[in-house]
Amino acid sequence: MTRIIGLTGGIASGKSTVSNLLRQAGLPIVDADQVARQVQRPGSVALDKLAAIFGQGVIAPDGNLNRQRLGQLVFADPTARHKLDRVMQPLIRDAIWQAVANFKRQGVANVVLDVPLLFEEGYDTDCDMVVVVWVSPITELCRLMARNGYSKAAAQARIAAQLPLSTKMARADVVINNDGSLEQTRRQVAQLVEDLQGTR
Ligand code: ADP
Repeated sequence: MTRIIGLTGGIASGKSTVSNLLRQAGLPIVDADQVARQVQRPGSVALDKLAAIFGQGVIAPDGNLNRQRLGQLVFADPTARHKLDRVMQPLIRDAIWQAVANFKRQGVANVVLDVPLLFEEGYDTDCDMVVVVWVSPITELCRLMARNGYSKAAAQARIAAQLPLSTKMARADVVINNDGSLEQTRRQVAQLVEDLQGTR
């Protein structure tokens, strides 16, 4: 039996950082963002559907998705965002579970599902364990501003648009506290890997 470990967190809470550490430790990872990019590759069904809804302008001259254009169209328009989700989420979901099935066929003991919207999209119900990467609100704000070059107001708006990190934390089986140094996070991830390997 393959154990499915959901990994999530808030925007800029350190989910990618932890996911990379788990990958370095040898755990197989299914990365939802990577899967989404794969689903939206040039010539894909997904891109055809997006062009039909949002216009050819969302396809760049080289055939790739024009993410910036699409982002502008949906950012302040909940109806457009809803349409985008209705088209994309089922395609991404299928591709994610296909990737998990491939790992299962290989007989791996653990597979990590790295999904930013794990709870919002209900993936947690199919996970055997959920790991949430937590940081304090002030750290989240500072790291988001630093990483994305956002103003304080822009960063706050993006954080406010998400399910609160405290809510995610309350629903976690394991919490990685990423409020401290990278070394402190590294130690917690090493412990998690040891626990996972010890219980198989
Ligand atoms: P997420 O994937 O959750 O959006 P990232 O892993 O990209 O978050 O981390 C957000 C930002 O914070 C990145 O710039 C990353 O380098 C930085 N960061 C992550 N963890 C730490 C840490 N423990 N100490 C300092 N900076 C960190």
